[in-house]
Amino acid sequence: MRYISTRGNAPALNFEDVLLAGLASDGGLYVPENLPRFTQEEIASWAGLPYHELAFRVMRPFVEGSISDTDFKQILEETYGAFAHSAIAPLRQLNANEWVMELFHGPTLAFKDFALQLLGRLLDHILLKRDERVVIIGATSGDTGSAAIEGCRRCENVDIFILHPHQRVSEVQRRQMTTILGENIHNIAIEGNFDDCQEMVKASFADQSFLKGTRLVAVNSINWARIMAQIVYYFHAALQLGAPARSVAFSVPTGNFGDIFAGYLARNMGLPVSQLVVATNRNDILHRFMSGNQYFKETLHASLSPSMDIMVSSNFERLLFDLHGRNGVALAELMSTFKATGKLSVEEDRWVEARKLFDSLAVSDEDTCATIADVFKRTGEVLDPHTAIGVKAARECRRNLSTPMVVLGTAHPVKFPDAVEKAGIGKALELPAHLSDLFQREERCTVLPNAIEAVQAFVAQHGNRGKPL
Ligand SMILES: *Cc1c(COP(=O)(O)O)cnc(C)c1O
Repeated sequence: MRYISTRGNAPALNFEDVLLAGLASDGGLYVPENLPRFTQEEIASWAGLPYHELAFRVMRPFVEGSISDTDFKQILEETYGAFAHSAIAPLRQLNANEWVMELFHGPTLAFKDFALQLLGRLLDHILLKRDERVVIIGATSGDTGSAAIEGCRRCENVDIFILHPHQRVSEVQRRQMTTILGENIHNIAIEGNFDDCQEMVKASFADQSFLKGTRLVAVNSINWARIMAQIVYYFHAALQLGAPARSVAFSVPTGNFGDIFAGYLARNMGLPVSQLVVATNRNDILHRFMSGNQYFKETLHASLSPSMDIMVSSNFERLLFDLHGRNGVALAELMSTFKATGKLSVEEDRWVEARKLFDSLAVSDEDTCATIADVFKRTGEVLDPHTAIGVKAARECRRNLSTPMVVLGTAHPVKFPDAVEKAGIGKALELPAHLSDLFQREERCTVLPNAIEAVQAFVAQHGNRGKPL
């Protein structure tokens, strides 16, 4: 499989190189040159497969030529064998023809484990083969950091540095990162906010001289491998609900448009997906596009669903590329307009095309809490605030009551106790068994000033399993 840039002016890469790449050299994002397409018979024959075996069939065309079948099978079995629920992504019925797909049974309790636990193992495999070491620098407001650290803790050839804003992540989220003690794990608390952290990561990608030749790898969802891993669970859920004989709809709590883009790809690969609902919080740039063809930046608002607090959606460019007939030149132009003016809209027929599949809703904190309370009252299930937004949007935007609607349950509620409490749910939430001693574990973290020189000096000093690069 070859991968090309959305802006049409960077070299095509194979899977191995795309895994190690960040943005393409022309500023675009990598996408498969040709998406694999499965027949209905083929998809039907996968019903009932264990998750890792389905994952092998869905993802095999993407890694072909870079990883052998035997190795890939083993990597997938190990990755998903570490999840706490034997169904890996169980479906829980909330209402008539309405389900939540629980994507929070991985080690760090959010859906990001599906991709990042795999990414760590893929990196390890490919770096050992190439006898190469890399450094990862990532910024997190919570979920990505812990999933990336957990995914890379056993990687022999990776040193990972995760920046989080000092005293601005929840205690559970912080402890999930800082209690993983390994000589290649480096938690840095920055005396600043999340944007400061993200800026430092971007600047480090732009000028990598401080790394003395060591390659820098991205773990945010611009990394293609993350999107790829997320395609699988759309197949998994749909097969259980009668696909491919029957269509299925999905509602996806959305921030950077990575998770829902994977659902769009599943459909283009042959899965009968009849509707995708973009569910956002009040940071609703994607809802503004879907409802009115207006994509523009606004101020960032802190919400009860912090993992979806974004101003722009980094993966949206991948959809725009398809909407423009995969014309890289047109996309480069569109994105440079966006860079200059902070806004874009597309030609009417392209927008109408998008709206055939996508609907959207922006959900306030108030409605988020009301949904958590309502679902708890009716079913006894406690939703996390992100999932609650997905449920609310699913109910408002649903096109057809006889089509099964699956809401992606993106995080475990125990990660977001404030929202659950605000929703008036008195029940105390318990950490799952593998994290039950989280509050007793030793923490390791370095606090650094909000200054890029300090961060880069720290990386250079510790980037080789705790020793200087
Ligand atoms: C990251 C995250 C999201 C948003 O996913 P995107 O791929 O960025 O759209 C939603 N919910 C939770 C809990 C997350 O951690």
